Amino acid sequence: MDGYHPYRSWVYDKLYVQRRGLKPAFAKGVEEFTTKAISRNQFVKDGGIRCPCHNCMCSGILSASEVKLHLYRFGFQPNYWYWTEHGEEAPHIDPENIPSSSGNIDNDDPFTLMQHMVDDAFGPTYDFQNMGDEGNEEENNEEPPNDDVQDFYDLLTAANKPLYEGASDSKLSICVKLLACKSNWNVPQKCLDFFASMLVDVCPFKDSLPKKIYQAKKLVIMLGLKFEKIDCCVKGCMLYYKDNSADIECRFCHEPRYIPRKPEIGIHKDIPVKRVFYMPITPWLKRLYASTETVAQMRWHQHNRSSSGSLRHPSDGEAWNHFDAKYPNFANEPRNVRLGLCSDGFTPYIQASSTPYSCWPVVVTPYNLPPEMCMTKPFMFLTCLIPGPSNPKANIDVYLQPLIDELKQLWSEGALTYDISMKQNFVMRATIM
Ligand SMILES: [Zn+2]
Ligand SMILES: [Zn+2]
Repeated sequence: MDGYHPYRSWVYDKLYVQRRGLKPAFAKGVEEFTTKAISRNQFVKDGGIRCPCHNCMCSGILSASEVKLHLYRFGFQPNYWYWTEHGEEAPHIDPENIPSSSGNIDNDDPFTLMQHMVDDAFGPTYDFQNMGDEGNEEENNEEPPNDDVQDFYDLLTAANKPLYEGASDSKLSICVKLLACKSNWNVPQKCLDFFASMLVDVCPFKDSLPKKIYQAKKLVIMLGLKFEKIDCCVKGCMLYYKDNSADIECRFCHEPRYIPRKPEIGIHKDIPVKRVFYMPITPWLKRLYASTETVAQMRWHQHNRSSSGSLRHPSDGEAWNHFDAKYPNFANEPRNVRLGLCSDGFTPYIQASSTPYSCWPVVVTPYNLPPEMCMTKPFMFLTCLIPGPSNPKANIDVYLQPLIDELKQLWSEGALTYDISMKQNFVMRATIM
């Protein structure tokens, strides 16, 4: 975040996440901005000031009240912490002078953002410290986690161990920070390797640090969710998957699977012409039950149906009740997951090239959650990324094949899942609503 202003955290903090309306601090800040701007005579033209909103980008002169409306609507132009077009100077920030008491800095710290992202990938908090010592003889049906989950908890516990007694950092957090350098500032890999080895050289606790970026990546990948790369026909007729996994050309249009090898320009290996990325949903659903923060919410729909007849959540709808009546076995277990599925075109390279390109992310979301969590970012799971360059249209079901297979499996057999709140393993099933 270039040129961050320690006291103006409100500048890019306009809206509430799940509620309408402007944040009061933002409205107050805009007021402060227009008052200041209008008071600097040499920057006022014809009674108006430059509008620093995201649309005008300081190119047009508007009246103070119009500027306010623009800012309410569009927000400030990027990186306008210091109002240099309105008579302010961007100071050289001495890091010592940033007050440590300002809690907002942490929120905008790129490392914190990265940490949040990793937290999301791992699931929020795992109560793994309190597990495993249940030696009591009380008859409470508590079970240890199944092997899968136990492996995950073990890995997480090991990776999250403080570097030394009293340290706030763990191997995991150091790895995340190193990787964040790469994504935040595009630091070259060689430089990061140098930093990593420098850290190892100067620290007495060498074993708990990654020696190379490769090791940091490996650790984070081990804890993250797995994904599969599946080759597909360039025209989207079929996936090279299951029975077809060994084919080298499309069964329908006979387009080749691989780019022809050209040793003279360095293509020695088989490189597929096109690929889809598939993220299996079962491990992710299991993690919703492995985390103390989400596990109770997954049962929300059981006791919170609307009695007034108003529709606030899919569980208040007729389709939900009809489904329950038709499949009582499934409905009897409130932890069974009901999923929503959606997809839409997405253009990753805006204006970068004249030929349009869109890819199609396929997202699933559990409807078990309460309305304020349902369909929010942390609970929208990207399961499949259909590559471009154009709308898959009718071929979309080709690309959804792995997801459909997984859903069939989840519907008919289910998956053994550990519920951390009950400390029990159960068979979780899922359906698409
Ligand atoms: Zn404007
Ligand atoms: Zn084909």
